[in-house]
This record gives sequence, C-alpha cells and structure tokens, in this order.
Amino acid sequence: MLQDKDRIFTNLYGFEPFNLKHAQKRGDWDGAKDIINKGRDWIIDEMKKSGLRGRGGAGFPTGMKWSFMPKEVGERPHYLVINADESEPGTCKDREIMRHDPHKLIEGALYAAFAMQAHHAFIYIRGEFIHEASELVIAIEEAREAGLLGKNAANTGWDFDITLHRGAGAYICGEETALLESIEGKKGQPRNKPPFPAMAGLYSCPTTINNVETIASVPAILKRGGDWFAGFGKDEKNTGTKLFCISGHVNSPCVVEEEMGIRMKDLIEKHAGGVRGGWDNLKAVIPGGSSCPILPKDVCDTVLMDFDSLREVQSGLGTAGLIVMDKSTDVIYAIARLSHFYMHESCGQCTPCREGTGWLWRVMTRMVRGDAEISEIDTLLDVTKEIEGHTICAHGDASAWPIQGLMRHFRHEVEERILEYRKAKKAA
Ligand code: SF4
Repeated sequence: MLQDKDRIFTNLYGFEPFNLKHAQKRGDWDGAKDIINKGRDWIIDEMKKSGLRGRGGAGFPTGMKWSFMPKEVGERPHYLVINADESEPGTCKDREIMRHDPHKLIEGALYAAFAMQAHHAFIYIRGEFIHEASELVIAIEEAREAGLLGKNAANTGWDFDITLHRGAGAYICGEETALLESIEGKKGQPRNKPPFPAMAGLYSCPTTINNVETIASVPAILKRGGDWFAGFGKDEKNTGTKLFCISGHVNSPCVVEEEMGIRMKDLIEKHAGGVRGGWDNLKAVIPGGSSCPILPKDVCDTVLMDFDSLREVQSGLGTAGLIVMDKSTDVIYAIARLSHFYMHESCGQCTPCREGTGWLWRVMTRMVRGDAEISEIDTLLDVTKEIEGHTICAHGDASAWPIQGLMRHFRHEVEERILEYRKAKKAA
C-alpha cells in the first residue's frame, strides 16, 4: 500500500481547511521561484522523466504533450486550459482536489503555463460543481492577494493569471475541443482534428488542455523529482500514484490515492471495505468510468489497475472510476442505462453517433426484457463496430464499448433472457 509520506494529495478528505494558509503549511507554493528559475526545458524534462500520463482518461504522456506547443511565441498568445468538467459516470476525483486541495491545482497551473509560455490559464469547470467552483474562486482570489497570481506571479518574474469558466452541464464539453468551443461562447460541439489545439486551440491560439489531477500532480513531481514519481507503478509506461474512485456495491465507497498498477482486488478490499457480501459475491466491475468495457469476476480476481494491464484484458483505465457490481445486478439493464446516457449526451454532429446511440439504446431496452431475437446480438455488435472509430470525437467509441464488453462476457445472460421471454410469451 502507498505510504502516507508518498501521497501527493494530502488533504484529499478535507480534514484541514483548503485555504492558502493551511495549503502553505502542507508545502504548497514552497520554492516556486526556484522551480521557475530552473527553466522551461528542465520542467518539461522532469515531466517526461516522471512518465506521468494524462489523468483525464486518454493517458497521453504529459511532458510530450507540453513539448508539442510552439517553441517561440508568435503573434498569437499561448493558453493553458484545465479540464475540470469531470462528468464521466463513476468518476469523482477531480472534485475532491478542487474542494479540498485547490492550491495544488493553481500552483501546478503556474508551472505548466510557464513551461509552455502561457500567461493565462482557463479552468473549465462542470456547471453542477457549484461548491467546488465557489471554493476555487476563493482560492484564486487568495492567490492573487498574496501575489502568487498576477504580475510577477509568486515572485518568479512570470506574469500569470487564471480565469474560472463555468460550464452549463453538458457531458460532451469534457471533450477537449468542445470545451474550447464552449469557452469561446459557442455550442459545445467537438471540432474536427487536425488542426490540433497545440497549433490552433482556444481563439485559434496554441493551447494545451490538461485534466485537473494531471496539473495538480505537477508541483509534487517538480519538487520531488521526475524519478521519484517514476519510482511508483508497474513499469515505465505506467508510473506514479493515481486517484481511484470506487463506487457501487462496496461497503465504503471512496476516492483514494494509490500506486499505479495496484491489484484491483486489493484496491477494493483494502480501501473500499470490500464487495457487499464478500469478494465471492462480485459479479463484475467497470474499471475506468462508464465507457470502459465491463470485466467479469474471474478477470477482476487478478487484473492490475494500470493503463496497459487493463488494455490487455480489452478494457481501460480511463478515469480510474471503478463501478463495482455484485451478483444482485441486472448487468443487461446496467449497460442499457449507460446506452441511454450516451444517447442523451450525443451532440448530434455525426450521423453514426446521433442515430446510432439511439438505436443502440432502443435495442438494449428490448434486450433487458428479452424481447429480441438471438441473431440481433450480432447485429447489435455490428452496429457498435460501425459507430466505433467513425465519428468526430470519442463519444461514439464510448457508446460502443460498454455493449461490446457486455456481449464479450455476459452474452449467455442476454441469450438466456431472450429464451425466457420467448418461453413466457408462449406459455401466456
Ligand atoms: Fe458529437 Fe457524437 Fe460526433 Fe462526438 S461522436 S462529435 S458527441 S455526434
């Protein structure tokens, strides 16, 4: 288990106040000037050394992403945008950072912005996060008053400020280019890529978008060294510590910081009080937020919680939001409910997603009752394949994967439901 001395988020549970005074007692803002004095290349190198992969779901290496920004500032300013739209079902980690440890995020934003030569950052926060937004406003104001933001921020010689932008509650605004559109005051719809945001992002200026947990991890990495962070984890591609959110049929749902690559079973048993009714009562786990394919118990017995181990079992780490289901779960209904979510949140720009997500949900609804033909299972899977990879953004993939996971591991249950329905209909 990760030791307390190695935790980045030392106020994750809000045992201490979030304000600047207490944040500084916890070490936030220590040595900001020294870090900036080491220069941009040093910061980016340390980030690369750390092996930190984006904590928002895609897992792209952070240091490499920063290095995509133009080396020199041209006519257009550079921007850092922080994605605080956390809306993936099963995911509730960024909100804990924002309400209990916001200065880690603000301090990390200064270092990240300096590394990519941005004088301004936007934090795009989910509309429903009223409490988190009001605490962030207080923390940003405190930082301004203390000279940690603004001209010569934290006495580093770098001018830097942050704007907090509240969304209006659309899931798709968590997609990075839809988020940029939303900040610009337009409809929150994903953009076609290329151009990528590092070339033409916010207001067509070079922009990097990072998740809250990613940016809030930066100060600890720079202060303790990239090698320190890389010392945790399964291997060099799956490094560091990570916030895991554990919900569903566990005795103590929680958010916890643990080492990347921890065994799923250990994570659930040691931190979430175990599965309701014991481990043998486990039916399945969605390991990384709702879009990641579901895994049955026999896989959960041994699987490790990191990017590559979960990919090997045809799922993903995603946002590390584990949704635990015990044997009382109607797994077909659970996945149908997710189909409804993805249908409802489609922005409607591309036909496979706009029409396909509704079609998936309607067929899944019949499958919950068993009112379907067994041959329709393959048709359903074919349609998921037609959606996957054929849309502007990953929302199409996200709608397809839960159904593919269901049929990969629980097809027998779907078939039994259809046969039972047929038998009951005949008897009636
Ligand atoms: Fe919109 Fe769906 Fe297309 Fe994404 S995949 S752009 S959500 S229609």
